[in-house]
Amino acid sequence: MEFDIKAIRKDFPALNQNVYNKPLVYLDNAATTQKPQCVIDAITNYYSKQNSNIHRGTHYLSQQSTYAYEETRKNVALFLNADNEKEIIFTKGCTDSINLVASSFGKKFIKKGDEIIISALEHHSNIVPWQILRDDKNAVLKVIPITNNGEIDIYKLNDLITPATKIIAINHVSNSLGTINDIKKIIKIAHSYNIPVLIDGAQAIPHIPVNVKELDCDFYCFSGHKIYAPMGVGVLYAKEKWLEEMPPYQGGGEMIKNVTFDKTIYNELPFKFEAGTPNAGGVIALNEALKYVLNIGYDNIAKQENILLKTATEKLLQHDDIKIIGTPSLKTSIISFVINKMHHYDVGVILDHYGIAVRTGHHCTQPVMDYYNLPGTVRISFAFYNTLEEIDILMFAIDKVKQMLS
Ligand code: PMP
Repeated sequence: MEFDIKAIRKDFPALNQNVYNKPLVYLDNAATTQKPQCVIDAITNYYSKQNSNIHRGTHYLSQQSTYAYEETRKNVALFLNADNEKEIIFTKGCTDSINLVASSFGKKFIKKGDEIIISALEHHSNIVPWQILRDDKNAVLKVIPITNNGEIDIYKLNDLITPATKIIAINHVSNSLGTINDIKKIIKIAHSYNIPVLIDGAQAIPHIPVNVKELDCDFYCFSGHKIYAPMGVGVLYAKEKWLEEMPPYQGGGEMIKNVTFDKTIYNELPFKFEAGTPNAGGVIALNEALKYVLNIGYDNIAKQENILLKTATEKLLQHDDIKIIGTPSLKTSIISFVINKMHHYDVGVILDHYGIAVRTGHHCTQPVMDYYNLPGTVRISFAFYNTLEEIDILMFAIDKVKQMLS
């Protein structure tokens, strides 16, 4: 498909509005992405025409929505190149997916003294669930350090692995620095010791095509809302062999085959892990979001986002008093920076008054901020629908910020 930025921007109604009488410049895509009209239409269509509880419904609407829901599962399996749709579990989001694995894998496979390895570059969502498990089981949580340029120090991984290591959980892309981690190498090292690996793909999925078979990861998690789909829906990919062995995460309707007061027989995969009424409308809209992304094409996405990343980086570096935090060799379109002596929050508030949406603070990665000895940063994060003109507006506003705060 030809990349026509004007046409693409028209697909996203939220981009075409003013805030404080200025055109919105939305540079907070790592927090959540805006939604194309096809996704909004899918939600509207679901609630105006299809709304009904899925599975086991004898009536027309239930059959329609069940079909659309299960078609999405098939398409997500194709999107990730999973072996089959039994390996795709719908969740509330990436956080929910990680909690599912920590809880369920943990219940079955982690005992006192066992070790879990994460990295110092993780989002709190890939730290806290493992801490809860550690405390529950008297296990040990080990952390791979990062290097000064904001990369996971893979060479330290071998030193951390012991016969007690039971799982490694690592992000594909860092949400605070944009680092693309060499997860293929980490998975290879882990598998040479027979250790399974969970990948937190929240920040990778909108930028990088993911092939779980090629990666050979055991678990891959992402949220719909980071890839132009609605909030409240997420995906857990897991190798079937793990899902077969893991106990259910939650009990309730849908995840059962037969219930008596003595005993419950659990449903088959993937339903064993989907207790209760799911966000069917959100799942069906996720299907539209994935189709939209594939139609634009990851090559086009990378091309546009790399131009934006390179241009903004060069322009920011023209300022002696601006420091970019994290300079990894491979990164997605995220830039974290600090302006000398200026508090990130003040910078964000002033940028907001110029219509520019950025994120400020620790970005749910307090250990990363601790490493750099910073209370927080200003983070800009581009999507393919951002433009070079928006970078000009940002640079103009940064000059104003500096005049006002210095
Ligand atoms: N991991 C990473 C790297 C993230 O950026 C995020 C979201 N900021 C999450 C996990 C959690 O995603 P969610 O809040 O959508 O569950």
